[in-house]
Amino acid sequence: MKKRYKAIFFDWDGTAVMSRKAPVDDAVAVMKPLLEKGVKLIIVSGTTYENIAGGSIEKYFTGEQLSNLYLGLGRGAHNYAFKNGIPYIFKDLIPDAEGLEKVHRICFDIHMELKNRYNFDTDVIFSRPNYCKIDLMVNNLRGDNLFMQENELDMLKESLAVHGIEGGLQSLIDLSIEMGNRYGMKVAPTCDAKYLEVGLSSKSDNVNLISELLQTTYGIKAEECSFWGDEYVGIEEGIFGSDSFMLTEQTRNGDFFDVSNVPGKRPDSVIQLGGGVNSFLDFLRKQM
Ligand SMILES: [Mg+2]
Repeated sequence: MKKRYKAIFFDWDGTAVMSRKAPVDDAVAVMKPLLEKGVKLIIVSGTTYENIAGGSIEKYFTGEQLSNLYLGLGRGAHNYAFKNGIPYIFKDLIPDAEGLEKVHRICFDIHMELKNRYNFDTDVIFSRPNYCKIDLMVNNLRGDNLFMQENELDMLKESLAVHGIEGGLQSLIDLSIEMGNRYGMKVAPTCDAKYLEVGLSSKSDNVNLISELLQTTYGIKAEECSFWGDEYVGIEEGIFGSDSFMLTEQTRNGDFFDVSNVPGKRPDSVIQLGGGVNSFLDFLRKQM
C-alpha cells in the first residue's frame, strides 16, 4: 500500500490484538514510531478504557506520542484524547439515569419477548455505559477471543430458524426498534453473530466526533484516513458487522479495510484483506 494516511482509525480486539488478554507489545511497537511522526491513531472499540491494554495504554507511550492518540470507546459512549500524557474524555454520550433505565428495560423486554414467543434463550449484560449486550448464543462461549469466529454466523442462523424466528437477524433489529419505540426511545441496535447490542449510539458516533475534531484541529480530511476492523461482514442482506458503523456519511471518502477471513458480503467500499491482526500490524509497519 503506497498511500500514507494522516489518520488511522482501527478496532482493537481482533484487529490490533488477538484477544483482550494477549500481550500488546506487537501493537505498541508499530504504533510508537507512527505517533512519534505525528500520524493520528484512533482506537475505535466497543469496550471501555479498562479493557484496552490492561486499562493503562498511556504507560506504553511518551507524552508527545500520546498527543496523537485518541480512543473512541463504548459504542459511541466515550471519546478520549491525552493531555500531558493523561487521558481525558473530550466528549461523551451517556444517558442520564432515567435514559439508562429505559435502555435496560428495553433490553429486558427483548429478552422476554424472545423467550415467550420463540422459547429462544438470551442473556443480557447490563453493565455497559449506554447500551446492553444481548447474548444470542448462550451456549457458545468465545472465551478470551472476543471477536467473531468463522462458523458463528451459520450457527446463529440455524439456531434462529430452529426457534421459528423467520426474519433472521433483521427481525431482531426490528424488534429492538419496536421495543425502543414503546419507551419513546430511538435506539441504535447492532449485531454480530453472537451479540445483539442495543443502546443510544454506535461506533458511528465515535468516528464522526473524532474525525470532526481532526478536521477542525489539523485539517485532516476523510480521504486522508483509513479505517480498519475485523467485523465488517454482513450477517445477512443489508446488515453488516459492528465495524461497518465506522463507515458514515462523514467518513465515506476514507479507505476501509477488513482483516477478517470470514467469507461473506461487506459494504461496497470495504476491501477485505484478511490475514487478521498480522495484516493490520504489517500495514502500520509499512506506513513508516
Ligand atoms: Mg473486533
